[in-house]
Amino acid sequence: MTIEEKVGQLVQMGAASGADPLSAPVKKAIREGRVGSFLNWRDPAAMVEAQRLAREESRLGIPLLFAFDIVHGFRTVFPIPLALAASWNPRLVEEVAALSAREGRSANIHWTFAPMLDICRDPRWGRIAESPGEDPFLASVLATAWVKGFQGDDLSSPERLAACAKHFVAYGAVEGGRDYAAVDLSLGKLLEVSLPPFQAAVRANAASVMSAFVSVNGLPVAANPFLLQTLLRRRLGFRGPVISDWNAVAELLPHGVASTSSEAVRIAMEAGVDIDMASGLYAAELPGLVRRGEIPEPLLDRAVERVLDFKTRLGLWNVAAKAPTPEGASLPSGSRRLALQAAREAIVLLKNRGSLLPLSSRIHSIAVIGPLADDRKNALGPWSGVGRPEDVVSILEGVRNRAPAGTRLLFARGSTITGGSKAGFAEAVAAAKAADLVLVVVGEEARMSGEAASRSDLGLPGRQEELVRTLCESGKPVVAILCSGRPLAIPWIADHVPALLVAWFLGVESGNAIADILFGLADPVGRLPVTIPRAVGQVPIYYSHANTGRPPGSGRDVSGYIDLPESPLFPFGHGLAYTRFTYRDIRVSPERVGPGQSIEASVLLENEGLRAAVETVQLYLRDLAASITRPVAELKGFQRVSLRPGQKCRVYFSLPSDALAFLGPDGEPRRETGDFELRIGPSSAAGLSARFRFDDTPRVRTSPP
Ligand code: BGC
Repeated sequence: MTIEEKVGQLVQMGAASGADPLSAPVKKAIREGRVGSFLNWRDPAAMVEAQRLAREESRLGIPLLFAFDIVHGFRTVFPIPLALAASWNPRLVEEVAALSAREGRSANIHWTFAPMLDICRDPRWGRIAESPGEDPFLASVLATAWVKGFQGDDLSSPERLAACAKHFVAYGAVEGGRDYAAVDLSLGKLLEVSLPPFQAAVRANAASVMSAFVSVNGLPVAANPFLLQTLLRRRLGFRGPVISDWNAVAELLPHGVASTSSEAVRIAMEAGVDIDMASGLYAAELPGLVRRGEIPEPLLDRAVERVLDFKTRLGLWNVAAKAPTPEGASLPSGSRRLALQAAREAIVLLKNRGSLLPLSSRIHSIAVIGPLADDRKNALGPWSGVGRPEDVVSILEGVRNRAPAGTRLLFARGSTITGGSKAGFAEAVAAAKAADLVLVVVGEEARMSGEAASRSDLGLPGRQEELVRTLCESGKPVVAILCSGRPLAIPWIADHVPALLVAWFLGVESGNAIADILFGLADPVGRLPVTIPRAVGQVPIYYSHANTGRPPGSGRDVSGYIDLPESPLFPFGHGLAYTRFTYRDIRVSPERVGPGQSIEASVLLENEGLRAAVETVQLYLRDLAASITRPVAELKGFQRVSLRPGQKCRVYFSLPSDALAFLGPDGEPRRETGDFELRIGPSSAAGLSARFRFDDTPRVRTSPP
């Protein structure tokens, strides 16, 4: 290979802005082997032709890679990743990823820029919508499922996509939740909070990793050998290619760590960025750098080998790109079924005073109100592939589909999402007064979350809260549904409406899924993957915060604010069912545990209500005293348990003593002798606890006197 041909493999070109992705300069680049992959092409016929040019008309015939952001579905749009995380159901996530992979691969795409694994504890950051939430344990379980679902066991299968774990690493910790801002994070948090989901993805054999845009502790990731080599390659053992985020090599200039393009390229290559997404700087500068000896050719060769291995793993040498199959006018029923299941499981019932839900048969008329009630576009959420609004079942439509025969439906928009007018209120109030019950659907536009969509306020935009207040004054029972890409701080609504659901952005089966929950055709099983704050001023607020010297109940002023309770509006892990579960009789054995042993913990769970339901039983651990300050609780396990009315069962967890380890200030794991508290319950803020002791001293056999 010539130096230019080698460099070509490291070049990813973006989608051309013009109508024809295959412009004359792009064709020329392909024929000359100066491009290795393309990003976000949507024209299957052009992809076939590009592949033909690469295979038949370039000197080496190296196949091209096509990448696409298949984040929560391609044609079939599923709930946004944060919503899928609310299912706490790795099997479901795996199926969603597998179906997305089939759809993507059949459109000649090989590689998805997903899963996004950035732990986020600041809902101002718009990309929380794409994230698995705030907790590293839950995120790691889901990371494994995403990778398995996309990739299966054999990447060369015509049904699979290569995954890309992104954005390595700690992008979710941007200052103030401002997208692209700097990250300043302790080593402890970096290793114990940000890294674990990537570790899980690497263990699951994720084919590629994307480096984040941002600087972490003073150095942009694309220039950061500690992150890309010490952590990613050596600590996690990752062997595949690392791709920069969009234009991130060029962004090393405004980051202020490179003063010329050629310096940016040298720094990125030396740090460990193999593929340059879209900046064009590797293409422009790398051949010269290698020729001048400023970059050793073996460094280039290693990056090229990783890309060629990747193409081999995908089986690209053997198969020609398929002629595009014309897209079906409607979604296959199997895809809709899975989209419906995913959407149902993503919904979180936050509040249900007086068991207002599921709706009783005494409700004969419903006023469906709100700017998101008859919406199709926003339900797709950010990063919605090639999904189409016309595939979406709106909430109004879903309610119409599922309401018992004879139910009268009234509809009024009430307000827009962001606008300042109250002109629609009167019509909404009239509808409310004429109905037995009000269903109000409020929230955000899809474009208010995702990339470059941070918000400084976590309330409902526009006049929507006033709309809800006005409807509450009608005296009719109000069920509020929140559609958004982030948790919203809505304390007034949470206090005043009897029933409240978080529905995020649920994708194509939105309306049917919500209606199924409302009418009791499906049970709510979702649990919050993030804490919901009372006010934006509480952020960051997350369950796993460090111990303080002023804990609640200490009888002294506690860590918090004078104008708010310390607690969040709703805690991580919270979510109600249509039944009552009780927890009794926690048992932990042995009470003293040593290295290599496991702690067996169990609790008696009973369904005391009248409906069969699924409970997500959560296990949290607290190290009561250690050589450094530890979190007040850490999720270490969860199980979804399904019980019939009146049924009870003992739920068992087995926790290896390795789970008691933490990382010391040197970043190395340590296990310390001491007492632990283990809690099993329905959320991070409730449950039964028991203590045990870990004894790390090796058992010395005493010799007889
Ligand atoms: C985003 C990535 C995405 C890439 C390609 C960037 O702006 O940060 O998450 O994969 O664009 O679309």
